[in-house]
Amino acid sequence: MITARTKSLVTGGAGFLGSNLCKKLIDNGNDVICIDNLHTGRLTNIEGLSTKTNFTFIEHDIRQPLPSILKVDEIYNLACPASPPHYQADPVYTFETSILGVRNVLCHAEKNNAKVLHASTSEVYGDPLVHPQHESYWGNVNPMGIRSCYDEGKRGAETLIHDYALIRGVEAKLVRIFNTYGENMRADDGRVVSNFICQAIKGKDITVYGDGSQTRSFCYVDDLIDGIVAVMESGKVASPYNLGNPNEFSMLELAEVVLKLTGSQSQIIKLPLPKDDPKQRQPVIDKIHKELGWSPKVQLHEGLGATIEYFNNEINQKRFA
Ligand code: NAD
Ligand code: UDP
Repeated sequence: MITARTKSLVTGGAGFLGSNLCKKLIDNGNDVICIDNLHTGRLTNIEGLSTKTNFTFIEHDIRQPLPSILKVDEIYNLACPASPPHYQADPVYTFETSILGVRNVLCHAEKNNAKVLHASTSEVYGDPLVHPQHESYWGNVNPMGIRSCYDEGKRGAETLIHDYALIRGVEAKLVRIFNTYGENMRADDGRVVSNFICQAIKGKDITVYGDGSQTRSFCYVDDLIDGIVAVMESGKVASPYNLGNPNEFSMLELAEVVLKLTGSQSQIIKLPLPKDDPKQRQPVIDKIHKELGWSPKVQLHEGLGATIEYFNNEINQKRFA
């Protein structure tokens, strides 16, 4: 018996996580439509997929309704700038992409009777007063600051997921992604892992913001993508899942690890800490582990090794944007 292939739509599919997700879904045998307006994404991230017959790229801004001609079984909504310098460059755009974008995705899913998985973020916890962060924590977010367009946009999007699921019956799920790194990040992305690695490779100063004692917990991209697909397949509707690696590091520790792994002679310098920068962040992942059996497998040294190799290639090929 021939079974129809799942038709997956990935918004933000030319970005860092989206392109890795498209590749995974293609490898799983799905038909994949990638929607992206190339705001921070790059065609080079999906050039290896563009020759596949089951892959289609459509340039489209999700602030506008999705093309009604697209019939799909499931939609992964990843479109949104995610790096602080990128999402702060045009805060109104970021907020609109979060809110109007998820509304358009949910409308399209409702019409197609399709499932949705929305990429939310650990930023919904803001600068958390509870540590580590469990899904039941409501967060500590400044509604009017430089991070608000992203944090509040993502919080509003969670509300829409919840209401479309409960009131309109859309099978909508969501993951709260903690800091993730790996292949297909841009060298000029501006987040800490890409900054430190590229600075170390080029022999430039390593820019630690503040005193470097603030912490993050870093997840390697392959683990993260496995978790996203697991939640789409078997996760509960309108029920947030933390997704990340609970191993927590200070930014000074991260800088030291990057220096060691690259063998770089770069110096660590201290720059002012951006406003509202969260002091600590670590996911509790008991829920996804118990319900879906997911936990990350790749530890920081191993994941950074692969990422350093990737950025060495990017820099040698001068593919910065
Ligand atoms: P990214 O910037 O690499 O990718 C975002 C993609 O969305 C880009 O390809 C961009 O061009 C596209 N995009 C932006 N606005 C759009 C619009 N209006 N219409 C269509 N496409 C648009 O970022 P990423 O790290 O891959 O993040 C992907 C998603 O995961 C985002 O929603 C982000 O909030 C979420 N997330 C990521 C992390 C992380 O550590 N990488 C952490 C938490 C949440
Ligand atoms: N950071 C840093 N140097 C950099 C970039 C970021 O010290 O060159 C710090 C930043 O202040 C934050 C942490 O690294 O405390 C993580 O920053 P990132 O932008 O990667 O993600 P987010 O703050 O959204 O978690």
